[in-house]
Amino acid sequence: MTQQITRNDFDQFLVQNYAPADFIPVKGKGSRVWDQQGKEYIDLTGGIAVNALGHCPDELLKVLQQQGSTLWHSSNWFTSEPTIALAKLLVEKTFAERVMFVNSGAEANEAALKLARRYAVDHFGYQKSKIISFKQSFHGRTLFTVSVGGQAKYSDGFGPKPADIIHVPYNDLDAVKAVIDDHTCAVIVEPIQGESGVLPATTEFLQGLRQLCDQYQALLIFDEVQTGVGRTGHFYTYMKYNVVPDILTSAKALANGFPIGAMMTTHQIAASFKPGVHGTTFGGNPLACAVAKKAVEIISDEHFLEQVRAKSDFIKQTIAKLNQQTPIFRQIRGEGLLIGAELIEKYHGKAMDFCHLANQYGLMLLVAGPNVVRLAPALNISQTELEEGLNKFAKTMTEFAK
Ligand SMILES: *Cc1c(COP(=O)(O)O)cnc(C)c1O
Repeated sequence: MTQQITRNDFDQFLVQNYAPADFIPVKGKGSRVWDQQGKEYIDLTGGIAVNALGHCPDELLKVLQQQGSTLWHSSNWFTSEPTIALAKLLVEKTFAERVMFVNSGAEANEAALKLARRYAVDHFGYQKSKIISFKQSFHGRTLFTVSVGGQAKYSDGFGPKPADIIHVPYNDLDAVKAVIDDHTCAVIVEPIQGESGVLPATTEFLQGLRQLCDQYQALLIFDEVQTGVGRTGHFYTYMKYNVVPDILTSAKALANGFPIGAMMTTHQIAASFKPGVHGTTFGGNPLACAVAKKAVEIISDEHFLEQVRAKSDFIKQTIAKLNQQTPIFRQIRGEGLLIGAELIEKYHGKAMDFCHLANQYGLMLLVAGPNVVRLAPALNISQTELEEGLNKFAKTMTEFAK
């Protein structure tokens, strides 16, 4: 079957809003992937920070099979045991008191932004609608989330955008002070900007946002769609910064690749979503929630998170050493297993070329913008897989520099 389907068919039958690599993965286990020709790859992409426990992990497969033969979907006219169990677990493990499930990161942010607007209407009136966001930020691809995101190339060309959204430079507290006022209903921020280059916020910046939001009675939304669920070596990254948001969004790794998103908040704020105000057909389905619960149980364990931080140091040190021999990177940064290596100016715009070259050596990598090579491997990648991957990374560096 797979032999009859080729990469060319993609161009013929799919909407061309993606330009996937020229090989087709057909199988994955742990941090290894095989393509149609049987060529083996080390996967340092984790499906864009999604497969936190690698491909087809046994513990999750067991839950998927078990729930798959029990109940897949019952709609939100009814609730399910896995839905409630997952919400309860997330409430135990975070600041949140209430959880709403959706199917993606964009939907989690859409819910967060709508909740912030509705909360402001309920408590202060319609004039409190300003949303402050950051340049280069990424919050998803629905029209609202893409308008809140700070990249015009993603939001322009779709007609009128939702109004009263303002973008200021990231990590610049004075810029926020200049625009925040009593009409501000929310500030939304990624603790580490993922898509635009793996740029961490400073602690002072996030603490300052918390203070400003308190001062102007605006809600602080942390978009942890990429940084959450253990990715940075903390269950959620707000825990590392010790800054507690009012609303937290999560998706990507939450069920290791089974689609699910979550919007988490306090009891008081959640009260603005009364029955019928917002909803989704698939959100919170038993299958996704059962898988997510198992993933959260494994990943939120402190010993598990500790090994994520140890691997982070190993990767950064290894690449830094390679970079002394073959200096192609300006900076290697990031937290936990969300790592960005920014190319020196000479190679700006060539991050994608680096990734394509890596494919030839049997290595899967990501970019974060045109100048940054991004690594987001499985959090449980073995030392052997990691060393193999970094050997291939070294070869790619040498060849790239030629
Ligand atoms: C990936 C991502 C999103 C969008 O998630 P989707 O599941 O693609 O809708 C939103 N915010 C951040 C920070 C992300 O990394």
